[in-house]
Order: sequence, then structure tokens, then C-alpha cells
Amino acid sequence: MTQSPTHDVLVIGAGIIGISTALALQAQGRRVTVWDRTGVAEETSSGNAGAFAFTEIEPLATPGVMKKAPKWLLDPLGPLSVPPAYALKIAPWMLRFWRASWRDRYDAVVKAQLDLMRHCEAAFERQLQTDGDAALINREGQLSVYDGARAFKSAAPIWQRRKELGIPCEVFDSAGAIAEIQPGLSARFTHAGYTPGWFNTRDPKTWAQSLAARFVEKGGVIETKTVSNLRNRDVYVDITHDTGVDSAVQVVLAAGAWSHRLAATLGDQIPLETERGYNTTFATRNLDIRTHITFASHGFVLSKNHDGYRVGGAVELGGLELPPNYKRAEILLKKAAKFMPGLETSGGTQWMGYRPSLPDSLPVIGASPQAPRVIYAFGHGHLGLTQSAGTGELVASLAQGTAPAINLAPYSPTRF
Ligand SMILES: Cc1cc2nc3c(=O)[nH]c(=O)nc-3n(C[C@H](O)[C@H](O)[C@H](O)COP(=O)(O)OP(=O)(O)OC[C@H]3O[C@@H](n4cnc5c(N)ncnc54)[C@H](O)[C@@H]3O)c2cc1C
Repeated sequence: MTQSPTHDVLVIGAGIIGISTALALQAQGRRVTVWDRTGVAEETSSGNAGAFAFTEIEPLATPGVMKKAPKWLLDPLGPLSVPPAYALKIAPWMLRFWRASWRDRYDAVVKAQLDLMRHCEAAFERQLQTDGDAALINREGQLSVYDGARAFKSAAPIWQRRKELGIPCEVFDSAGAIAEIQPGLSARFTHAGYTPGWFNTRDPKTWAQSLAARFVEKGGVIETKTVSNLRNRDVYVDITHDTGVDSAVQVVLAAGAWSHRLAATLGDQIPLETERGYNTTFATRNLDIRTHITFASHGFVLSKNHDGYRVGGAVELGGLELPPNYKRAEILLKKAAKFMPGLETSGGTQWMGYRPSLPDSLPVIGASPQAPRVIYAFGHGHLGLTQSAGTGELVASLAQGTAPAINLAPYSPTRF
């Protein structure tokens, strides 16, 4: 047991959420230390599709989604699946997911996601101005393509709502119009929606590492430590790790898909699961890829990465322990070769990442009910990169006791 705090603010997790939060706390004049069991952006923040997808306000749990559940179970390599070995374990989460898909909750989640996205977009521009490397950002928008009128029809309400909400977007209903944004796509894609307001980083790992370098340059400390337990004391928090016990005035828990395990040591039960995603990255590219392409009916994307490209996506509700099933990455590649004829698909590097996901697709941003000196910042699912700068600012407000930019009730850890 320690007698007085050894740290001012300790951030657990050096993924994009932890690093962005560390920078935002540092900007408030706090002395910040980041601990990670591996290094900067070695987990989910390393291999994602690199999109700042500020227009993505729809949760995974849409009304009627559970009607498709039996189909997922029957197609182990489909865009959304539950491995049989994990089916029972995921059941309580699925129940909450089902409840989140009811119209009343769905509408509330869309509103909360919109508020968060508006804040996050502005926060991203602030972060870019103060700490970001503009050379790592491409502002080339995103094209969602649909195979035929029927596929587009089911997505049409999403595009209609985006227009109503004032989100800049355009829809196309001919292969010719699509080719003006992105040539070379298969003629099967006759409909599309285009959002010019998406940005991409040239590489998510390099982006996180450049922010981390900036944090260190400004006096921040990053160390390798594995945290195993948090304990609430009245005026500080004890943190048990692989080489002893330290303490901090405040702790930010940003350990991605592993965060619930540490929250549980405080007595908080948060229904965090992981949506595992797969991709393949190529170091060079043989086709002219002009924008981030989403194959909307197939659940995967094609994005640029450095001088190459990345094909990935899929959702596998398979927990943290089952081995990866890289057949999923192979299937996405086969589809990509069909959808973008001529795309070179040999010689890439496969990857699996653990999206940290709550049943309603909203993150947890708020103080632990058991230990108010511990602030939770995890569960960003498909959107952690997009929401990183904004989350950092919100956590910094909570830590400082100032009013956050948006109402944080929808992201509360007590909402479940
Ligand atoms: C295929 C795929 C594509 C994606 N594409 C996008 C995209 O285009 N845009 C977007 O916005 N998002 C995307 N995402 C989601 C995004 O990658 C995640 O939401 C984001 O990376 C989560 O960041 P994080 O910092 O919370 O978690 P992580 O990056 O996983 O970081 C958590 C850190 O905590 C550390 N840690 C865990 N436990 C401990 C412990 N006990 N002690 C010390 N350290 C610990 C880990 O080592 C890790 O470094 C994608 C995800 C996948 C899988």
C-alpha cells in the first residue's frame, strides 16, 4: 500500500484513445503518464481502416436486426458472425444488443452519436492544428457502393436522414456517375452514396505514434507496464501492475477491449465485448484508388495505406481468447478482387483486431460509479480513431471538473 500518490494522472492504454486523452490532459497543465503492456498502438489502433468517419451515426443494432441473427450463425464466414464456441458467452450481450435495436433506443443512440460526432469532428481539427501531422491526413471522402436498386433501397433511409441532418452527402444511381468518383469498380455497383466529409490517415499506427511522440516531446511519459488491479482510496487510486503498486490522483482507463476486466476490479460490471475484425494490407498499389470505398452490402472496405492499400472489415463476435480465423480475411480479398477487377491481391499481410464494443454502439465516457477518480474512456467499437480527439477533450473536462462540451449522460457507465 502506498502513502501518497506517485502520479498525477495515469492513463492505462496507449491506443489512439489513451494517447489522445493524454494529450488533452497535458494541454490542461496536468502531469500525465501513460502505461501500456506492449507499446504505442500495438493493438486495435494499429491496423484499422484509418478513416475519420464523422458521418457514421447509425449503430449496429438497427430495428429488425435480430431477424437476421439465425442467418449469421449459419454462415460462419459471412460479414457478421458468432463462432459456435462463443455463442453462449455472447448471449447476455446479444440480449442487450436486441434491446438497443428497439425504435426508442435506436433513435436516442443516433442522436447521441450525432452529438458526439459533431464534437469529435471539431476536436479532430483542433488536435490536428496543435499536435497532428497534416501530411498523414488525406481528405478524399468516402464512397459506399451498393449492388443494385434493391440493396440501395434498404439503405436509402440512412442517406435520407443524413441529408435531413445537414450532413454533406450525395447519392448516385448509375455506374457512370459512380465512376466519376472512383473508376474501375465492377458494373454490379449501380448505386452509391458519397460523403466528402470523411478523412483518412495514411496509416493509423503512424498517426497514433506521431501523436505519442508529440506527447513525449511536451514532457509526457510512456512506460511499459501491465496493470492487473485498481483500488479506490479516498484521495487517490492504487494501481497494481507487474512490478509493484503505484498510485495516482486520477486514472483514465483506456485499455480498449480489455477495459472491462480492470473496471471489474473496482466492482463495475460493464458489458464490453469485442467485435473482431480482419484485414490484409499491401505495401504497393496497382490501381488508382481515389477515395475510401465501402462495399456496404458486404461489410468491408478498401482504403489506402501509405503507398499501398488495405482490404478489411467483418464483425466476428468471438471474444478475446479464440484464435483468429484468417479465412475471413481471405474471403474479403476474393470479394475485393471481384468488385475491383485487376486489383492485385497476392502477398499482403493479414491482421485481426479487437473492436471494443458496447451493445448500443456508444462508448463509455464517464467516471466509475465505484471510484470517481477513475474515468472510463473505452468501447468505441468501429469508431475509435474517429472519436479519439473528441473523447480526449471530454475526459480532460471531466478530470478538471469543468463542463464537458456535450451532455455525457448517453455514454455513462451506469446506463446498462
Ligand atoms: C478491421 C477494423 C477496422 C477499423 N476501422 C476503423 C476506422 O476506419 N475508423 C475508426 O474510427 N475506427 C476503426 N476501427 C476501430 C478502432 O480501431 C478502435 O475503435 C480503436 O482502435 C480503439 O482504440 P483504443 O485505444 O480504445 O484500443 P486499443 O487500440 O486496443 O488500445 C488499448 C491498449 O490498452 C492496452 N492494455 C490492455 N490491457 C492492459 C493492461 N491490463 N495493462 C496495460 N495496458 C493494457 C493494450 O495493450 C492496448 O495498447 C476499426 C477496427 C477494426 C478491427
